[in-house]
Amino acid sequence: MVYLDHNATSPPRPEVLAHALPLLTEHWGNPSSTHQAARRPAAAVEAAREQVASWAGARPRDVLFTSGATEANHLALRGALQERPGRLLVSAVEHPSVLAPARALGAGLLPVDARGALDERALERALAEGPALVSVMAANNETGVRFELEALGERVRAAGGWLHVDATQLPGRCPAPAGWDLLTLSAHKGGGLKGAGALVLRPEVSLAPQQLGGAQERGRRAGTLNAAPIVALGEVLALPLPSLLPLREALEAGLVALGGVITGAGMPRLPNTSHVRFPGLDAAMLVMALDLEGVCVSAGAACSSGATQPSHVLAAMGLPAQEGVRLSLGWNTSAEDIQRALAALGRVLPQQRALLEEL
Ligand code: PMP
Repeated sequence: MVYLDHNATSPPRPEVLAHALPLLTEHWGNPSSTHQAARRPAAAVEAAREQVASWAGARPRDVLFTSGATEANHLALRGALQERPGRLLVSAVEHPSVLAPARALGAGLLPVDARGALDERALERALAEGPALVSVMAANNETGVRFELEALGERVRAAGGWLHVDATQLPGRCPAPAGWDLLTLSAHKGGGLKGAGALVLRPEVSLAPQQLGGAQERGRRAGTLNAAPIVALGEVLALPLPSLLPLREALEAGLVALGGVITGAGMPRLPNTSHVRFPGLDAAMLVMALDLEGVCVSAGAACSSGATQPSHVLAAMGLPAQEGVRLSLGWNTSAEDIQRALAALGRVLPQQRALLEEL
C-alpha cells in the first residue's frame, strides 16, 4: 500500500510511540489522582504541557488538553463567545468542526478568492463593523493553502476582537503559526496519536468552560486526561521536522506532466499537501481507481464519513467542487512511494478519460 492521506491521519512515529506507550502499559494511572499511581502519568502530562507551550510560545498554564481538534475548536468558539458575547466571523473554507458550530452561533462567513486567500475587501468591511471573534485555519486540510495570520491577528485585535487559529494540520510539518489569541492543535496527522488535542490561549483570553464535571485543567475542561496521546502531542512538537517539500515538488512535477492542475499553486502552502484537479474527471472515481491500484488518497471531505461529498472548499474558491484529489505526504513517505503513486495515476487516468468520453 502507498499511503498518501496524512491529512486524514498518519501512522504514529516510532520515537513518539516509545514515549507514549508506557502511559498505557506501566504508568496507566489517572493523572489527577492523589496517590503514587498518578505520579508518573501526571509528570508526563505536565512535561507535554511544557512542550506544547514552548512550541506555541505560550505559558504552560494556558495550555488546555482536549480530546482532539474538534473539541478544541468547539471550546474556542463557544467558550470565548460565552465569555465575551459579540460577532463571530469564520472563513468559508474552515473545517466542518469550525463551520458547524459557527453556523449554530450565527457566524458571518469570510469569502476566499480563487487562490484560496481571504477576500481582502470583504474582510475590511467585516472588521470595520467592530470587534469580532475571528476564526481561520493555519492551513487548509484539503488544499494545504495557508492564510497570512500575523497581520490578520493585528487587525482583529486593533478592532477589539480575538483571532482563533485552527492549526490542526501544522504539527509535525511546520513551525508554530503567528498572530493567534486562541490556538487549536492536535498531532495525529503528524505522527502522533488520535484522542488528544489542545487549545492554547494568550494570557488575556478567558473562556467559559463547555464541559462541566471534574476540576481538571483548572476547571476549564472537565474529563480524565488521556495521557498517552497527550504525551504523543508534546513529542511530535519537540521532534525535528521531516523534509517534505522535495518529495512534494517531485510529486507535483509528475502530476502536472500527467495533465493535473495544482490548486493554490502560487500560494504559501503546507509542505506535504498536493491538491490536484484533472479537468473533467470526477475525484471520487479517481480515488476509487487509485485505491484498487493500492494507493490511498482522498477527495473532498472524504475523511469524515467514508462518503465523498462535493468539497465546500473548492466551491468557496469558485472551482469545480467534484474534481479535487488530495495527496498528502508524511514522515514515512519515500521517493519510491511518489513514483509508485505517479505510475498508478499514469495507468488510471487514460481509463478515466476514456470513460468520460463514453458518457
Ligand atoms: N481542523 C482541521 C483543519 C482538520 O484537518 C481536522 C481533521 N480533518 C480537524 C480540525 C478535526 O480534527 P479531529 O477529527 O482530529 O478532531
